[in-house]
This record gives sequence, structure tokens and C-alpha cells, in this order.
Amino acid sequence: MSETAAANTLLDILNKASDWFKARGIDNHRLDAQLLLGHVLGMKRMDLYMNFDRPLVERELDRFRALIKRRGAREPLQHLLGETPFRELNLKVDRRALIPRQETELIVDLVRKHLEPGRPNTILDVGVGAGPIYLSIVKEITNCTVHGCDISADALQLTRENAAHNGLAAGNLTQSDLFSGIPEGLRFDCIVSNPPYVGENERQHLQPEVRDFDPALALFGGSEGWELPSRLIDAAHERLREGGILILEIGAGQAPVLIAKAASRSWKSLSTSPDYSGIDRFLLLHK
Ligand code: GLN
Repeated sequence: MSETAAANTLLDILNKASDWFKARGIDNHRLDAQLLLGHVLGMKRMDLYMNFDRPLVERELDRFRALIKRRGAREPLQHLLGETPFRELNLKVDRRALIPRQETELIVDLVRKHLEPGRPNTILDVGVGAGPIYLSIVKEITNCTVHGCDISADALQLTRENAAHNGLAAGNLTQSDLFSGIPEGLRFDCIVSNPPYVGENERQHLQPEVRDFDPALALFGGSEGWELPSRLIDAAHERLREGGILILEIGAGQAPVLIAKAASRSWKSLSTSPDYSGIDRFLLLHK
């Protein structure tokens, strides 16, 4: 075997890509290289390990190099793979919506836990994005009616595509700025939302993957970040039936200010729930 051929084994290529990513400040450099190469070759990570000595052909190398270059420019891994897992779903992701985050999976458990047992509940997801919460409810929670809205027509379209992609029916999707497009008379048992809550003032500290590729509309909630969640809490009150619950994902450290702002309406109870890192990530308000 010639020297050039030997330098193009799967292991050599992986090592090179991983080193290159590392030099560009990418945290999971080795994992990202493996997942991208697996994507090009149609192999699981385990298959890669079994094939470390296999040489790559030029066509495979070209496809891999193109992806490596984009990832090196800090395009999110999930955009390059085209999909991301979320609970029981595989969601298509692109620039139309925020990439669903792992901690958001927990909000679906909170919704399930707080539904009124024994009767059909009516639920609204405000800001469906790519559809993670809305479609998880459609898939996992039976005996309920789910509505979803988003200010972005692109995001709603992505949610519809993700419904089809996961073999689910997506009805009741409305374009709406908070509740503006939701019929006045509708009252919900549960309103759930992962609203934009990052502060404009945090922009320069964000990872390039987030800052440059997640839509700003889905990310920033105002100069401090809590402004939009606060408006949402205010507006949600009259959209809930008596005894209904609002469940929100919020930013680290925002619980005290949001609870203080929520005091302008009479909520029966306000509490928080932690994410996997123990941060108060979810706010629960009972009407
Ligand atoms: N959790 C996301 C982040 O920190 C933000 C999500 C949101 O604003 N809802 O990047």
C-alpha cells in the first residue's frame, strides 16, 4: 500500500478532523468527527471502530471534507446531520428554528405530571419552534387536545414537516405573536412554553453555533432576557381556566425576577423545577 493510501484510513482521517476541530475551540471534537464521518459513510459509531483500517475513497473524502469545513466554521453539528433526537422523536433541524436542547425534554414530563387526571385536557404550546414539546405531547400524552402557535411561519412549517417525519398528525397550529392569533374564547388547562429568554446583553458570550445559527427571534427575550417571558406570564393568566397551569422554561437565575413580576396577577402558587444540572430551569404557575 502506498503512503498516501495509508494516510487515508478511517482512523487517520478521524484523528485529523478531531485535531482540527480542537484547534477551532470545538468542545466535543472527537465525537463530532465520529458522528460526521458516520453520517457520510452511513455507519454507526460502533461500525467506525470496527473499520478503523478501511481506506476512504475520494468521493467519501470529498463529502467528509465539506462537512468538516462547515463544522470548523462553527455550524452546529445538528444542522450538518440534519436531525436531532428529542425524547421519542427524530426532529429535522435547520435555521428556521432553535435546535431543541436536551434539558427541554423534562418540560414534557412536567406537563404530564400536572394535567388533571380523568378528563381530556386542552394544552397550548406557545412558540413551537421545530416542534419538540408540541409533537412530544401529540405523541406521548393521549386524552388531550393540543394547540401550538409560533410567531414564525417558517417554524410552523418545520413543525408540520416534523409531524410528517415522525408519522404524527399536526392540527391546531396557528401563526401568533404570543396569544394574538389564539381565539379569545379558548381557555386552556395547561399552557407550556420554551420562550426566547436569552439576554441581548449576553450575545457576545454565546457560542458561535448559538449566536450565528439559532434564529434571534427564538433566542433573545429582550436586553436582559426575562422581558418576553414576563409578558408571556402576564398574558397567559386570562387564557387559562381556573385551576390551570402555566409551565415555562426560563434562563438560569431568572426565577426570582419572574416570580416578582408575576405578583401583579393572582396566581395560586408559583414554584420552580430543576434541570439536569440542578438549575431552576422551569417555572410553574397555578391559576
Ligand atoms: N437554552 C437555550 C440556550 O441557552 C436558549 C433557549 C431559549 O431561549 N428558549 O442557548
